[in-house]
Formats: sequence, structure tokens, C-alpha cells
Amino acid sequence: MIYKNLNNENIKVNFKNALMRGISSDMGLFYPEKIPILSSVFFKNIINYTKEDIALYIIKNFISNKEINETNLQKIIHHTLNFKFPLIKIHDNIYSFELFHGPTMAFKDVGARFMSQCLEYFIHKIQQKITILVATSGDTGGAVAKGFYDIQGIEVIVLYPSQGVTNIQETQITSLNKNIKSVKIKGSFDDCQLIVKKAFIDMDIKKKYNLTSANSINIGRLIPQTFYYFFLYKYLKKYYDINNQKIVVSVPSGNFGNIFAGLMSKKMGLPIKHFIASTNINDTIPRFLKHHQYNPKKTIKTISNAMDVSNPSNFTRIMYLYKNDINLLKQDFFSYSFNDEQTIQNIESVLHKYKYIMDPHGCIGYMGLKKYNNIKHDVIKIFLETAHPMKFIDFLPKHISKHINIPNNIKHIMTKKHQSLVLSNKYKNFKEWLLNR
Ligand SMILES: *Cc1c(COP(=O)(O)O)cnc(C)c1O
Repeated sequence: MIYKNLNNENIKVNFKNALMRGISSDMGLFYPEKIPILSSVFFKNIINYTKEDIALYIIKNFISNKEINETNLQKIIHHTLNFKFPLIKIHDNIYSFELFHGPTMAFKDVGARFMSQCLEYFIHKIQQKITILVATSGDTGGAVAKGFYDIQGIEVIVLYPSQGVTNIQETQITSLNKNIKSVKIKGSFDDCQLIVKKAFIDMDIKKKYNLTSANSINIGRLIPQTFYYFFLYKYLKKYYDINNQKIVVSVPSGNFGNIFAGLMSKKMGLPIKHFIASTNINDTIPRFLKHHQYNPKKTIKTISNAMDVSNPSNFTRIMYLYKNDINLLKQDFFSYSFNDEQTIQNIESVLHKYKYIMDPHGCIGYMGLKKYNNIKHDVIKIFLETAHPMKFIDFLPKHISKHINIPNNIKHIMTKKHQSLVLSNKYKNFKEWLLNR
């Protein structure tokens, strides 16, 4: 598969290049030259395939045999997916698809692990040392750190803000050490992101470091996220016996990577009728769908911190998928926003009525389903539960948090010491540190 640069479609790169560069030097996003249409036989037989079979079948369309052969892809996939993806009925026709059973308890583990192993495979061949620089609002940092932990030839530097990160998120970022370095920036996520952006174009830094980014615009994180939607379809067919019901999926969205993967899956032939992009009060996209004006505001902090994004990078890809035609997009795509108060209320009422505890992100997905009433009959509604509620325990009121069970692997992490360097939000301080360490 070849990837084109959306800023200049004449510039084309292979998977390896798209992966290593993350974004092109003119800030253009990489995009599959041709989105494959999968065979109807595959969809018909999907219930007989394991999750590894499904993933391999999909990924082979995006990475050629010459770049990574099938045996190696199989290994990578096996390691990426070695945890469960339960689909749980909550009430009526509403289901929760739990994507948080990986090592850092957020859905980002799949993308981060897949990307890290592909990179490891390529740098092993070229014998270069690379440094991954990543800014996080909370979940990305932990997933990327864990995904790259102890991988030869790769060093990871995670920048995270002093404000708005939960305790467990901070522990996940800071407790690994070895090839993982964490830097706490006195400021916001936007400050961290700005520092990272500047570093990528700084010649002094480029002389000393071979930098790569691992944020969610990287094709290596994006493509494996399509797997979820195919697994979902398989489970619906296998365990819930769907027939002619239309499938509607609500995706808690921040940078719109996960939902882009869903829309791309639809394009590949997966029969999902509608997608709902559910957001917190950082509502640029719901407003855009309503007024047809793209007008990002300053980012506001919420209890669903992984979605505190007001200018989602992957939305460009979504628009491109729909020929930059908003009316075409609106046939498949809906978007609603919710505030923290509504989030807490709904977590509480679902807990009370159905004994199921959602995290703030998943709850926003749930509320999106409740609000959607485009087709009333014969529809099956799924929200993606993107994180374990435990990760957000310090953002929830006591009467809710006391019901959250802390999994053993997290208990074990909680006792670890935090170790990070603290820097101001000035680029010059970061640069000085990076060049003199
Ligand atoms: C990152 C994240 C999201 C948002 O995903 P995008 O692909 O950026 O839209 C939602 N929920 C959780 C828990 C996350 O960590």
C-alpha cells in the first residue's frame, strides 16, 4: 500500500516512511492511496475467524508483503491483541463494547502496541536509534510508554501537563523508566503540544536526535484501530444473532482517530449504518455539522480529559473520505456534545439502574446513543467504552467512585514511585534540557 500526502497528492510514501515520519514535512497527513473493499465472503464467514485472522486479513491490505512479511505481521498482531474485547448488553438495545482490557486500560493500547512493534521491526533492519517525542493529555502517554517500553534502539520522551492528568495516568507515564523519560510541563496539554511541534522543526535538535512522533495521526496507530469495528460485527453476529437490524456505533471522540478508523471500516464494506461522534464540551465538530462553519474555540478542561481537543487533527481525513462534502458526511455521521454535569448524572443513573459503571468517556458515548433517534426501529446501538473507570477515579464523586473495583495490575502500579523531570512551559527550557542531557 502506498500512502499519499493530503497536502500534495503527488507526494507518495510507503508504509515504513509514513510510520517513521508521522506527518509529512509540510504538515500534510498521510492517507491510504486506495481504501480496499473487502470481499463479501469475508463478511459472511467472519464469525468463524479468530480476532487474529480478522486483523491479519485487514492489515495485509495496508502493509505489503515486501515491507513486513506475513509471518512477522502475524507475530505483531498476536502480541498486539492478546487481551479480551467484551461486548456487554446494558439495557434494551444498548451495548457497551469494552476496549480497555489492555495493559494501560484505555483503547489506545492496540494502536500503540502495533506501532511500536512495526517500528522495532524496521529499525532493527536499519540499525538506527530513534527518539519518540510525544505530548499527552493523559492516556496517550501511558499507552505509548508501555508499548515502547524496553524496546532496543527506541527512546521515548513523554511530555504531560501538570494540570488535568489523573493520578493513575501520571503513574502509568512516570513509573516505567529505562528507555522511557517523562517530563512534567508546568501548564496545559496545549503547552506540551506546542513544545513538541517546535522541537520537530528545530534544526539544533534534529542534528542530535532522530525524532519520530507517536501521536494519533500516525498511520501506524490509526489503521489497527479498524480492527475493533470488525470484531464488533463478528460478536454481534455470533453472540447476539443480529439479522436485519441496523448497527449504530457511538464513538467518544477527541482527536477523531478512532471514529475515522470506524468510517474507513464502513468504506471497506462493514455494514454499520451510522456513526455518532460524541464529544465533551469541546464541541467544534457538533457545531460544524450544525452551522457548516469550522470554528475551534480555546480548549476547555473536562473530566473526560482524553477528549479535551478543540481542533481534531483527524477530521481532515474524515472530510477527505467524504470528498470534502459535508452533506455527504451527514448521511452517515452525527455528532453531539455533553458537559461534565450530564456525564456524572448518567454514570450515576446507569450504575443505579443497570449496575454497570461507565468511565466519563464511555458515558459520553452512551449519551450520544440516547440522543440519536434517526431510525427508531430495529436498530442495535453500541457505544465504545474506551477506558476503565478506575483511571478517572479522582474525577468522580465519592458516591460513584466507591463502586469501582481496582484491578490487580493497577493496584500493583499504584505503589510505584513517580519519577519525572519538571520543566516550565517555555520552549527554551525544554530545548536546553534536551540538548544538554
Ligand atoms: C484518546 C481517547 C479518546 C479519544 O479518541 P480519539 O481517537 O482521539 O478521538 C476517547 N476515550 C479515551 C479514554 C481516550 O483515551
